[in-house]
Amino acid sequence: MNALTLAKEIADEITGWRRDLHRIPEIGLNLPKTAAYVTARLDEMGISYQLFERHSGIVVLLGKPTGKTIALRADMDALPIKELVESDFKSENEYMHACGHDAHTAMLLGVAKILKAHEDELNGQVKLLFQPAEEGPGGAAPMIEDGVLENPKVDAILALHCDRTPGMGYQNGDMLVKYGNITAADDQIDIRIFGKGGHGAQPHLCVDPVAVAALVINNLQYIISREVKPGKAAVITLATVQAGRGAENIIPDEVYIRGTVRNSDMETRAFVFQRIDEILKGTCMAMRADYELKFDYGYPPVFNEQSMTDGMIATAKNLLGDDKVKLYTEQAMGGEDAGFFYQKVPGCFFRLYNPAPFVDGEIYPGHNARFVLDDSILYEGTALLAQGAVDFLNR
Ligand SMILES: [Zn+2]
Ligand SMILES: [Zn+2]
Repeated sequence: MNALTLAKEIADEITGWRRDLHRIPEIGLNLPKTAAYVTARLDEMGISYQLFERHSGIVVLLGKPTGKTIALRADMDALPIKELVESDFKSENEYMHACGHDAHTAMLLGVAKILKAHEDELNGQVKLLFQPAEEGPGGAAPMIEDGVLENPKVDAILALHCDRTPGMGYQNGDMLVKYGNITAADDQIDIRIFGKGGHGAQPHLCVDPVAVAALVINNLQYIISREVKPGKAAVITLATVQAGRGAENIIPDEVYIRGTVRNSDMETRAFVFQRIDEILKGTCMAMRADYELKFDYGYPPVFNEQSMTDGMIATAKNLLGDDKVKLYTEQAMGGEDAGFFYQKVPGCFFRLYNPAPFVDGEIYPGHNARFVLDDSILYEGTALLAQGAVDFLNR
């Protein structure tokens, strides 16, 4: 079978599914309308599926129990953003598919339709994972806990994400891929600095936690500029700093700081975490303040394994032509909870370039209320996933 020909035949249907899903965005682990939409389409295709009690994940198993099993994963959730894009499929509620997960779900439905029609040609099994809560609190980890990588045991995994990286000369419909870590480790930190509040005119009788926080915020950035090996990528962004209640003459008792920490790999992550702890401790000790530090462990990087990536590149070149497949090396610092799957199973995660301009002519980034994507080429994503699975099972 040639998945590109088959996917082209259902291109309008895939686009229609994406637009239907775009109207009904939901966030988090429970996506009742989205899951009902997906299962209704699977019912029409005569495909059975597994549902779960504590989240809206959906698992489909196709093929025959001989040979290997490959998983194909799509995320289904949206974001708490009020859409500003006018269209006849504009979001009907307060949320928005501003990351393209509606497109991912539609593309995987296309895979279901194609592989169901050619099930007897499959040289093994294909497990489709429709996953909630990628944008938080995370749906991959609970699905793994619920055993989706077992029975049958999954040997490999493929997934894709829509892409809109500017300034690289990519064309819509290009397949973009990278060896090694393709997303970053994505963690949160909470810091509380405790001083001793008092009168703003008597700092010598106080321990000013605002002054200590200023030192902490600066000192932590030295981890990035002076301690992380050049060539490794790490980001510390302290996005929330709260202290005081608006008075000009009251030194507060404490400061609250919250931020995100991104690392290109797990070794850098461990090192950066250790240095955050040490620098916070040392700075607070020098300034007579106390502190509390909490790491919220988020998503690990998605790791593109060598042979799976070689295989996916070969599949993509056969399907789309050499010039549509773009290898890149730059480390992106975005997080992606598919990382939990890729820690357990070798796989390839790739990107499909498909941005479209907002009405003002500008292309806005993901997670923006003016996010628009070109949904005329989603069939390519369907073809890449379906053919990638078939080729893996035949290897
Ligand atoms: Zn996103
Ligand atoms: Zn996303």
